[in-house]
Amino acid sequence: MIMMDWKYLADKLFPHITQTPEQVEARFPKRNLPEGAKVTRMGPSPTGFMHLGNLYGALVDERLAHQSGGVFYLRIEDTDRKREVEGGVQTIIDAFSSFGLPFDEGAALDGETGDYGPYRQSQRAEIYQTFAKALMAQGMAYPCFCTEEELAANHAAQEENKENFGYYGKYAVWRDRPLADIEAQLAENKSYVVRFRSEGSVQNKIRHDDLVKGKLEVTENDQDIVILKSDGIPTYHFAHVIDDHLMGTTTVVRGEEWLATLPVHLQLFRALGWKPPKYAHTAQLMKIDEQTGGKRKLSKRKDPELALTYYAKEGYPAPCVLEYLMTLLNSNFEEWRRANPDAPMQDFPFSTKKMSGSGALFDIDKLKDVSKNVISHMSAAVVYDNVAAWSAQNDPAFHTLFTRNPEKSQAFLAIGRGGKKPRKDIALWTDVKPYMDFLFDELFQPDYTLPQRVNAADAKAILADFAGVFDADDTPEGFFDKMKTIAAAHGYAAETKAWKQNPEQYKGAVGDVSMVIRIAVAGRQNAPDLQSVMQIMGKEQVLSRLQACQQAL
Ligand code: GLU
Repeated sequence: MIMMDWKYLADKLFPHITQTPEQVEARFPKRNLPEGAKVTRMGPSPTGFMHLGNLYGALVDERLAHQSGGVFYLRIEDTDRKREVEGGVQTIIDAFSSFGLPFDEGAALDGETGDYGPYRQSQRAEIYQTFAKALMAQGMAYPCFCTEEELAANHAAQEENKENFGYYGKYAVWRDRPLADIEAQLAENKSYVVRFRSEGSVQNKIRHDDLVKGKLEVTENDQDIVILKSDGIPTYHFAHVIDDHLMGTTTVVRGEEWLATLPVHLQLFRALGWKPPKYAHTAQLMKIDEQTGGKRKLSKRKDPELALTYYAKEGYPAPCVLEYLMTLLNSNFEEWRRANPDAPMQDFPFSTKKMSGSGALFDIDKLKDVSKNVISHMSAAVVYDNVAAWSAQNDPAFHTLFTRNPEKSQAFLAIGRGGKKPRKDIALWTDVKPYMDFLFDELFQPDYTLPQRVNAADAKAILADFAGVFDADDTPEGFFDKMKTIAAAHGYAAETKAWKQNPEQYKGAVGDVSMVIRIAVAGRQNAPDLQSVMQIMGKEQVLSRLQACQQAL
C-alpha cells in the first residue's frame, strides 16, 4: 500500500475527527514546575472495589509528588464498561479521602479540578481517536475485522503448533490487506477494531531501567495490539500512553502485572514520538496463608483485609495503615521512626530505591503493632476525637457513653500518655471500649475474683477501711501511704521486701491490698494506674464501687 491510501483510510474511518494531534497537544502545555518535581497519578478503574494494593501504590505516588514539589492527580480509567459499577467513582474518591491522601487535581465527585482534563477516560474518546487517526494516516495502525471466532481459531492453531499466542506474523491477517478488502467490509458495516502495526520482533531485547525492579531486559513486542476497541474506546495500553504524555506524568507507579506489556507501551511512546515516563512497577502484596503456612497473593475472596473498606470498619486508624504500608515500602523506615518517634511520616525521605522488587509480605499483626505505636504518640484529644467519630458510625451505644462526659473520657485516655514510654493498649478503635468500659456503670461487669492471698473477710475489711480514708485529691504518695497503713492493719506487709524476706510473718503484701481496691473499682486485675482512674471517677463513683464489691463478696 502507498502512503496516500493510509491517509484516505484514516479520513474514511475518522470523519468526525477534525482536530490534529498538534492542536490537542497545544491544549496540554508542559507543566510549569520546579526542576525535579514529579507528576504522578492514580489511574483506578471504577469497579467498585478498592484494594490495599491501590493504597500501597497511591502512597508511593503521593510521596513522590509531594516530596518533590510536584503534582499528584486522579484519573478515572473507565474505558472498560463491563467492569464498571454504579457509584464506582465515589468508592474511589471516598477510599482515598478516608486515608487522607490529597489529590492536587483530577476527577472529583462533582466534576473535576485541574487544567489537564477531562480526567475521566470515557470523556476523552476524541483525544485518543485523534492520535489513532494520525497513526493510521502514517500506516502505523489499521482496522482489523476479525471476529471472535476467527481469533479463537488462531488461538487453537497456535496451541496446536506450540506457537506464541496472539495477533502477529501470519496470524495478523488484516495487517497488509488491500484497501479494497477493507472497503468491502466497511460497505457491509462490519465491526472492526484498530490495531497498532508492530515492527518489533521477539528476537530483540529492550533494556528497561525500572525505579523499583532495577535494570531489566524485556522482549520486544511483535503483536499488533488493539488500540481502539470496536466502540472507538481505547484499550488501557493506548489510553495510558496518551494520557500520561498529555497530562505530563513523569513517573508511573503501577502493579508489576503491567511489566509484561511494558514493551507495548514503550513502542507506542516511540511511535507517537514521545518520551516515556519513568516506571515504578510495584511488587504484589503477599501474605502467609494460615492453612498452608506458605506465601501467597492476597485474595479478594479469602482475605477481607484486601478491601480498603475493611480498615475503617474494623477501627484501624487511617494514619496507622499508611504508616504500616510505609514500613513495607521502604526498608529503612522503621529505623527512621525509632529515631524520630514524634515526627510526621511526611518528614521521612521516601525513596523508590529502598523499595523491594520482590513481593511485600503483609502481616496484620505487624500492622497492629505499628498501629499501637502510632496511637501511643497521639494526644488524648486526638484519640478522643477519633474514637468519638468512629463510634458514632460503628458503635452508637458506646458513642453515647463515651461522649457523655468528654473531659472524663479524655482524662482516662491521657493516662500513661505523653512520656518517653507511652502505654500501648490501643491498636484499633475497637480496643477502646474493652479498655475503658469499666468506667461506665452501664457497661461495668466486674469479675470480683480476689488475689490468692486475700480471703473475702479481709477483702471486705480492706474495702471498708479504704472507703473511710479515700480522697480523690490524694497524691500518689498519699494514696500509697494509705495502702500501707491498711495493709499493716490487716496482717499484710507494708513493704513488699519485708514480706519477701519473712513470708511466714504476713498474709501477703501491700500489693495484694491495692489489688483488692483495683478489683473493686475496675472489676478486673488489669487496668491503668489505679489512682488516676479513681481521680477521674470521682468520690461518688469510687465509693459506690467499693460498696458494691463489699456486698458481692
Ligand atoms: N487502570 C489500571 C488498573 O486499574 C491502572 C494501571 C496504571 O496505573 O497505569 O490497574
